[in-house]
Amino acid sequence: MYCYDFQVVLQEVPGEISLCFTISGCPLRCEGCHSPFLWKKGSGAKLTNKEYRDILYRYFGFATCVVFMGGEWHKKELIAKLKYAQKQGYKTCLYTGEETIDPKIEAHLTWLKTGKWDFKKGGLDSKTTNQRFIEVETNKQLNHLFLK
Ligand code: SF4
Repeated sequence: MYCYDFQVVLQEVPGEISLCFTISGCPLRCEGCHSPFLWKKGSGAKLTNKEYRDILYRYFGFATCVVFMGGEWHKKELIAKLKYAQKQGYKTCLYTGEETIDPKIEAHLTWLKTGKWDFKKGGLDSKTTNQRFIEVETNKQLNHLFLK
């Protein structure tokens, strides 16, 4: 799993301070993709377990959630990383362009964002979006939290 970018973010999961890992190798190729540099497999740096664990340790008590921007194409590795985050007391979230993901991944998520980017419909902050932000346990859609 290669990580193109790591940031601490405030808006991706409302109400949470999130450690956000952007994973390269996205196979979806949405028309008008805002980040086509993520299509290439292996761009960025390898996200080793040590580095990942060190980041989670460093931000413990400050950040509350771990978010993956993609990475579902590395199923086993993603599940292991989500499990580790949960074990450390973090909530978890995945942003995917897919409509559904493997239930084995979903079992380790607090929230899931689904749906391809469609520039005509807009993102989560648009009323016409095709994307969904879901609380996994209840299957409740929480898109309203993104509307301004
Ligand atoms: S899912 Fe995101 S990164 Fe992947 S092609 Fe679509 S917009 Fe680009």
